[in-house]
Amino acid sequence: MSEIVKTEAVVLNKIDYRDTSVIASLYTEDLGKISAIVKGARSTKSKIGRIVDPLNHLRVILYKKETRDVQLVSDAEIISHFARLKENLLALKYSYSIIELVHKLTPVDEQNKRIFRGIVRILSLLEKGEEKPEILFGKFFIFLMKETGYEIQFKKCSVCGKRELKNMVNGFNWDTGILCVKCKEEKIDNYRIKPELFDYLNCLKSTKLVPAVSDSIIIDANKFFETYLKFHVPDFKEIQTFKSF
Ligand SMILES: [Zn+2]
Repeated sequence: MSEIVKTEAVVLNKIDYRDTSVIASLYTEDLGKISAIVKGARSTKSKIGRIVDPLNHLRVILYKKETRDVQLVSDAEIISHFARLKENLLALKYSYSIIELVHKLTPVDEQNKRIFRGIVRILSLLEKGEEKPEILFGKFFIFLMKETGYEIQFKKCSVCGKRELKNMVNGFNWDTGILCVKCKEEKIDNYRIKPELFDYLNCLKSTKLVPAVSDSIIIDANKFFETYLKFHVPDFKEIQTFKSF
């Protein structure tokens, strides 16, 4: 027995399947992340095939079977295809990084409406173009870590609990979290967090508007994010999208 599900979805990626079909990874509002096949998608006549494309926000109709790993897309229509975002190379780089992380970090078949709304919201902000793509990516990263159980704590030293950490070169231990100057000396294995990076990460975590940041802080932050993932997420090697832009 299959069930008909009408839901919204964001396309995370797609791969060719057999001669004419594609299998897409979708983050759906009602079912979480799923794989779904679009039969005949690569035929030039397929309307659905054209719109089931990474980043697109769609309304889809699925035939869902509990016993199947790959569901069937029977219809789809566009809600937004983020046309402006796709013309901006930097926005495109960070948007693809966002969907890559959602694809790699979220569990299959587990509904999470906050993640779904978070993806749609961040892509809409990237489309609007009022805030820098790299900052929006950082905010989404912090949000996604929290939602997937890898929340990053910066509030107090993870060893002694000290809260005054501003304007100092703190450390970060991948096991325990942020380290104050004193505890940093005692733990051999730690990552150096410059005051500017500490401020920036805290800013991303708050709802405050992030002030202008230098390119070097963005580079440091992205390196921090990637290393954090490598340590915490099994089999995670790199943010591949960073390599292809
Ligand atoms: Zn401490």
